[in-house]
Amino acid sequence: ANNGFPADSKVYKLEKESELRCEVPWDGQLTVKLLEGVAEIFGTEIAQGQELHYRGGDKFAVFTWYGATVEITGQPEVSYVADETPMVSYVNTHAVLEARRQSAREASSVDGGAAGEETQGPRTIIVGPTDSGKSTLCKILLTYAARLGWKPTLVDLDIGQGQISIPGTIAATLVDKPVDPIEGYEMESPLVYFYGHVSPSENPDLYRTQVEQLASMLERRFAGSAEYRNAGAVINAMGWVESLGYELLLHAIETFRIDVVLVIGQERLFSQLSSQFHGRTRPDGSRIDVVKLNKSGGVVNRNPKHRQRTRTSRVREYFYGIAGDLSPHAMTVSFADVQIYRIGGGPKAPSSALPVGAQSHADPIKVTHVSISKDLTHAVLGISYAASAEQLLSSNVAGFIYVTEVDTMKRTLTYVAPSPGPLPNNLLLAGSLMWVEH
Ligand code: ATP
Repeated sequence: ANNGFPADSKVYKLEKESELRCEVPWDGQLTVKLLEGVAEIFGTEIAQGQELHYRGGDKFAVFTWYGATVEITGQPEVSYVADETPMVSYVNTHAVLEARRQSAREASSVDGGAAGEETQGPRTIIVGPTDSGKSTLCKILLTYAARLGWKPTLVDLDIGQGQISIPGTIAATLVDKPVDPIEGYEMESPLVYFYGHVSPSENPDLYRTQVEQLASMLERRFAGSAEYRNAGAVINAMGWVESLGYELLLHAIETFRIDVVLVIGQERLFSQLSSQFHGRTRPDGSRIDVVKLNKSGGVVNRNPKHRQRTRTSRVREYFYGIAGDLSPHAMTVSFADVQIYRIGGGPKAPSSALPVGAQSHADPIKVTHVSISKDLTHAVLGISYAASAEQLLSSNVAGFIYVTEVDTMKRTLTYVAPSPGPLPNNLLLAGSLMWVEH
């Protein structure tokens, strides 16, 4: 009865400029196959006949500019065709960025590649509340650029739902090919800073410091390569856009010397940012353009439980691989072999203990040594590149381990790492990030 297709498969005919939106249930899976026409998933073209296997909890859309036939096998939680999408405005945005990359490259070839401002490609930040589709727009814009041969940089400032590393980090990576619809970004050696918490309000000064560190590394990378500089950067902001969240957003715009601000899905934020930057020019004459974009109706709202679940699975993916194809290694070291530090505010003096009118000042970015105890069981620790404890604040991390057991009698700590061999450094960073293996 199903015309020779597998029993649980369904075929969708997509008109031009429409998309098929799917959500996979947490305990299910789904296979997508393009039968006819040309289609893309978040910017990446998919090949006819190729089977794409989506896993539990995935949400995606197959979009076509000219029309396509798509087969879905499995039991989606949700699947429907939508003919209203913001893709035209997204591709127009891409075209504006593309023109700026082109003129940066032309300027580079004229003055021999000197690191002048005119050879800087667009630095774009994507802002909007949670669940507005920021990460998805990042993928689309970076993929469109990569499809034309550029090597733009992705910077992810979203410590809650980042795309580069585990939760609690801010990071950057070069994107030199379309983002894989299943595996996501392919990363050679991303630059990762371990903030250690999933909310910036835990330690805003540390967050600011790490954003500044990341930005200065990016400046160095751009100064050293016209290819990277001309391609520019796409920066994913976090979804918290009120009060402190808004302040941190302005801080990021200044720190990364952003020239294009794309606001999705919130009129109020757009008007706030446009009045903030209206008529502003930098010393070199460049403007800050604030552009409003529509949110896609396909972006799925994720409740706190779903977000928590996504965070947990990001950590699992780090240790076990996206398809569970890595086999992590358990290792035991003696307490003396590792040095664990925490970057945090010192305890604040209770205001009752202070003279009237005095403010309690905690040193917000104090690095303190942590004595190893059972409290560290299940903690996710960053392996710092720092050569000494003084450098911890300004150093990025090589990777992560999680602590499975602390034996205070034997004074040993057992941990799991994604790859075998000794730790690349014995200076480890702790935050509030925990992970329990199920
Ligand atoms: P956050 O601020 O929480 O990180 P966000 O604004 O970055 O959220 P996205 O991660 O881009 O939002 O989108 C939320 C979810 O919706 C993702 O799972 C994404 O794959 C899905 N999604 C986005 N666009 C579509 C679409 N057109 N059709 C189906 N699913 C979509």
